[in-house]
Amino acid sequence: MSRRLASRLGLVAPSPTMAVAAEADKLKRAGTPVLDFSIGEPDLPSPDAVKAAGVRAIEQDFTHYTASPGILELRKAIADSYGKRFGLELKPTEVMVGPGAKGVLFATMMALVSPGDDVVIVAPYWVSFPEQVKLAGGNPVIAETRADDAFTIRAAAIEAVLTPATKVVILNAPSNPTGGLLPKDEAAKIAQLCVERDLWLVSDETYEAFVYDPADAVSMLSWRAQLGERLIITSAFSKTWAMTGWRAGYAIASEAVVKALVTVQSHDGSQASSITQKAALAAITDAADAPQAMLEEYRVRRQLVLDLLAEVPGAQCLPPKGAFYAFPDVRGILARRGFKDSVELCAALLREQAVALVPGEAFGAPGYVRISYATSRETIREGMTRFAKFAAGS
Ligand code: PLP
Repeated sequence: MSRRLASRLGLVAPSPTMAVAAEADKLKRAGTPVLDFSIGEPDLPSPDAVKAAGVRAIEQDFTHYTASPGILELRKAIADSYGKRFGLELKPTEVMVGPGAKGVLFATMMALVSPGDDVVIVAPYWVSFPEQVKLAGGNPVIAETRADDAFTIRAAAIEAVLTPATKVVILNAPSNPTGGLLPKDEAAKIAQLCVERDLWLVSDETYEAFVYDPADAVSMLSWRAQLGERLIITSAFSKTWAMTGWRAGYAIASEAVVKALVTVQSHDGSQASSITQKAALAAITDAADAPQAMLEEYRVRRQLVLDLLAEVPGAQCLPPKGAFYAFPDVRGILARRGFKDSVELCAALLREQAVALVPGEAFGAPGYVRISYATSRETIREGMTRFAKFAAGS
């Protein structure tokens, strides 16, 4: 019995969003044009300055290993840009760059979580949070948000699930999949809670550039003085600058925590690609306005999706406050069409109408589906029209 996969693989499942995308891909390769809303992948191109910097890095032979935490210019640019925005003194040594937010979060879980630790995750959650916690040997403990509260993250929901074994709280606002936010007063209460209980607070702010009402925008960095070493911010170039394929994310934390993350990363992905790091630097220095232009495009698409979803019988959708996902309640469609759950619904929708959505089960929210509207307006129009036909059973 020696040649067996590690027992930890019994605890985790492959990324369900990637699985839907793979299924859609299979259909596409077989010649069926699929309208794909499954993956959180901006269809907008990376900004020209980013592309040019990548090409330049290759031409200038900047194609070798870099220091594991990232090149100093990039760490400094990240520290300076956050420092300016939040009125903080941030040092480059308080920043680690890694291969995407996913890689940085994985290093964070490996650095913070010991076997048996409880880690609070807010549901509906991004698919990789619980799986990464389990891979690190921890137990995901779920704090719920509610549709009738606009999926708002509340301190009380987190406090209600704390145990003596709780070590980490993970927040994600704007949330993937709900677009839910963290109001300032709740953020203050959560910071206070983490100080009182001496917990790590990991705030994944991957979608922070995409908040539809600027008055709602908040970063846990505003509570850095209070939280001190307990705070780890993670974010990425992936969505903010439409750079998903480049693989660049980062953490902002105390020097001691950054050192711990680098220890993990130095034995895992080593670093983000050297070429990508130059491109990421150009994103900050030469394409600072690009995210705002993308937000305006997402705002138009969001309205389009909401208008068209209003025509889908049995679907009910709140306007997402951030990110680029619609997350409708589809229990009415399950009832109308006699599906057992959203997994069955999504499989049938792909089969019958070649429209790919992700079932809510993947995010800990049965009865919902996730629709990424980081795709073209034409795709949204056609896809949602087909969804309406499907829901009506016609
Ligand atoms: N965090 C959240 C909430 C996400 O939705 C994603 C990607 O979908 C990530 C992290 C990972 O981003 P990256 O592509 O930079 O690894």
